Amino acid sequence: MLVDSHCHLDFPDFSDDLDGIVSRAAAAGVGRMVTISTRVRKLDQLIAIAERYDNVYCSVGTHPHNADEEDGVSADELIALTKHPKVVALGEAGLDYFYDNGSPEAQARGFRAHIAAARATGLPLVIHTREADEDCGRILEEEVAKGSFAAVLHCYTGGRELALKAISLGLYIGFTGILTFKKSEALRALAAELPADRILVETDSPYLAPGKFRGKRNEPAYVVEVAKVLAETCGVSLEEISRQTTENFFRLFSRVKA
Ligand SMILES: [Zn+2]
Ligand SMILES: [Zn+2]
Repeated sequence: MLVDSHCHLDFPDFSDDLDGIVSRAAAAGVGRMVTISTRVRKLDQLIAIAERYDNVYCSVGTHPHNADEEDGVSADELIALTKHPKVVALGEAGLDYFYDNGSPEAQARGFRAHIAAARATGLPLVIHTREADEDCGRILEEEVAKGSFAAVLHCYTGGRELALKAISLGLYIGFTGILTFKKSEALRALAAELPADRILVETDSPYLAPGKFRGKRNEPAYVVEVAKVLAETCGVSLEEISRQTTENFFRLFSRVKA
């Protein structure tokens, strides 16, 4: 079994095809999906999707692109929203300096509030970090010093230093279809170097369709393509990478039924 640890099933791209998406994922051996929140204020839509399908779960959080719009969402508010049994994670939250959406200050405030909620609930935080290695690494170090929390740096595209720092702080690293792109040699070298018990696979669909589907709409079934390249990269079989990443997923997302 494989798991898509990060997708966005509430995005309009999927609205008239959700049953198809979920059944194609099941047919491809994708046994669980976590549809990731980008706006706390739209959590109801995610919960409705998660309630509709047994093997779909969701998170609650503010994507850094929406940090200004949801500036001031407190850790307590986030904690209260995790009471629903299908909410299994916080995020995605973090820092994105690539796009000019969300001021760095609001992003950092949101990031720290989500970390506080993850620490208080014991649920993992899904971290989005892009072109922000230095600030992300600093915030993680400062926050882990205040008390540990579980987290994954999802859709990893950062440098080696931040990845190794995250691993040393007890965190996980998630890989998407970007791993399958020709130009991603450095990312594959990094994936091969990381401890096998800290890596996850994800699609981040509808974005980032892997290799042979590039440019098309991505969907959870295609996480198999990410796993294939990760297996090749790590020199193990697809069965072994499926077993390992799924075991990692259930350890990190401990509220999801195994
Ligand atoms: Zn993201
Ligand atoms: Zn995402």
